[in-house]
Amino acid sequence: MKSFDIWSSIARARKQATFTQRKWISGDTPSGVEMHRRQHHDSPRCPICTTEDESPVHILTCSDSRSVDLRATLLLELHEWLIAELTCPWIREFLFYGLQSWFDDLEGHEPGLNRHETFAPSAQAQLSLCWHATLFGFFHDSLVQLQHRFYKSENSRKTGILWARKVTLKLWNIVYQIRIHRNSILHETEAIQQVSGLAKIQQAITTEHARGPGRLHRVYNSYFSTPLQSLLTSTVNNQKQWFHVI
Ligand SMILES: [Zn+2]
Repeated sequence: MKSFDIWSSIARARKQATFTQRKWISGDTPSGVEMHRRQHHDSPRCPICTTEDESPVHILTCSDSRSVDLRATLLLELHEWLIAELTCPWIREFLFYGLQSWFDDLEGHEPGLNRHETFAPSAQAQLSLCWHATLFGFFHDSLVQLQHRFYKSENSRKTGILWARKVTLKLWNIVYQIRIHRNSILHETEAIQQVSGLAKIQQAITTEHARGPGRLHRVYNSYFSTPLQSLLTSTVNNQKQWFHVI
């Protein structure tokens, strides 16, 4: 087997990924922190847990139970898939428990697996790339070569390079699913209203309504004749209109 270049599995897998996957993987889809920086969102907070700022890494490691459950499901599915692909059991368990531990605690320790002395150098080499890189399909040469030798020992005609390409796509799909989940929560619940300023607008309306029209031109009086409750339950657009007046 020729010396394996970690970039080639990325390049090959990239050709097979869908346009949307490529867009997300290349980081073109902004996180809450980025949207806030661009002033599209009033808050950089994560729309799922609403307690932490949403950096690109937070999207992958959010500690909300819905995010944790989704990742557990995706990892179990990955585990099954690795078995079906005749993945070397050392590599399979290394990827499964390593990713699980990284998702759960970015700063945590590596899971204490007893690594066979044949596998330890490959594991070490892969760990030097870090789990974030692994999740994006960066595989160290020695890990891919180990998988290749495993196929040979099982009399399989599959290759380590093809395995790496498939796993890369599989891992990208995990990132993709996590993104879809995050976007569905952002767009389909009231979270978008929270982060895009509805709460702020409602608060401003309440304050201004309580102050009354005193300091404004009488042309605006009609805005204050509407009961506060109706204003607060009116559509977001109406509220925004009202907000611009005050
Ligand atoms: Zn979160």
